[in-house]
Amino acid sequence: MTRKVEQSRKLQKRAESMIPGGVNSPVRAFGSVGGEPPFIVRGKGSRLWDADDNEYIDYIGSWGPMILGHAAPDVVEAITAAARNSSSFGASTPAEADLAEIVISAFPHMEKVRFVSSGTEATMSAIRLARAYTKRKYIVKFEGCYHGHADVLLVKAGSGVATLGIPGSAGVPEEFTQFTLALRFNDVSALEDAFQKFQGKIACVIVEPVVGNMGCVSPAPGYLEALRTITKREGALLIFDEVMTGFRLTFGGAQELYGIRPDLTTMGKIIGGGLPVGGYGGPSEIMDLVAPLGPMYQAGTLSGNPLAMAAGLATLRYLRSHREIYKQLDTLSAKLVAGILAAAKDAGVAMTANRVGSMFTWFFMSGEVRDWDTAEKADTKAFGNFFRGMLDNGVYLPPSQFEAAFMSAAHTESDVEVTIAAARKSFSR
Ligand SMILES: *Cc1c(COP(=O)(O)O)cnc(C)c1O
Repeated sequence: MTRKVEQSRKLQKRAESMIPGGVNSPVRAFGSVGGEPPFIVRGKGSRLWDADDNEYIDYIGSWGPMILGHAAPDVVEAITAAARNSSSFGASTPAEADLAEIVISAFPHMEKVRFVSSGTEATMSAIRLARAYTKRKYIVKFEGCYHGHADVLLVKAGSGVATLGIPGSAGVPEEFTQFTLALRFNDVSALEDAFQKFQGKIACVIVEPVVGNMGCVSPAPGYLEALRTITKREGALLIFDEVMTGFRLTFGGAQELYGIRPDLTTMGKIIGGGLPVGGYGGPSEIMDLVAPLGPMYQAGTLSGNPLAMAAGLATLRYLRSHREIYKQLDTLSAKLVAGILAAAKDAGVAMTANRVGSMFTWFFMSGEVRDWDTAEKADTKAFGNFFRGMLDNGVYLPPSQFEAAFMSAAHTESDVEVTIAAARKSFSR
């Protein structure tokens, strides 16, 4: 099957003439995989349609938020109802506390939450808060973890222990990242060394408890426990960036799955149900430092936007009353991941897969992926071939070897079978 691309090609050209790369977020571009990006015009359940009327099974799910599938009736209804009463006021609305209540109920350590409009804002604000609370300057992040595009978090994987942060983007002065330490994920001794070297100076450790942004990488047994123990001992805050994992792995995110209580949690993606929402929360003792109660400033004109709150609330309410979804997602994802691995094996293609619940990545390599250094060894050219083959056969995967794919509650056994068949076809061409 060859998909039609005429309309999408025209739309891409038009977009490129006005928008850098034709995209409003670089991960959407096809630079690393090749091929022509479809322009999406419609979605329903597990399916997407592009401007040339090609149909795809979607495993991006807007990079995580669409856990109920596209145009889920409850969510569409909630957004429509909210819009009829005006889309923004810049004053408090009841829905904000409704969403806060359900979010707080999911995370045992959380007493208060502040809503923002993106995951980037959430992590940036949580770091500011950790510094305000501890009165310390240094922060620790891990190589291959993505926490949005704030200057201090855009630090490229520095090699070696406690390497001072080297900016991973033009336009970020070195001075802005001089307090960012980028350490190897899943490496407890690297963290111990950093705390030794910067004793009493580290404000927080921020981590994706299950990494999604170097492809899916799970924490080694005992790793998250070690992060908890060490940060507590050293008087630093532990921030779980659950922008991707929150309400995705279980209702209570990775912290529920692994039984760890961080000091602060950052959220995004699913809590907005496909509209722009982020959030950060923790105990009142810390959260009360945020303005207007405390001296840490953070604000947003459209924060707590009524449409966004409505979409998030409808999504979380649905998940709360259908907890069986998580078991179903886990089973179906396991089946899909195993099916593709088997197809690769039959085709003689080297592949290893990582999966936690409905987050997964097929790495084109043999051996284990446990951190950025191992992930980086994957054959991105082989991934590109696979990606294009899948797209031509009606399956839309994230256009990068280093991004997690997602299953939604709208995906069916039949979707999974069709996807595995598409993989067999794309391996054999
Ligand atoms: C997506 C993501 C972010 C950034 O969220 P945006 O809404 O894109 O700003 C931060 N942290 C993690 C773990 C993410 O997956």
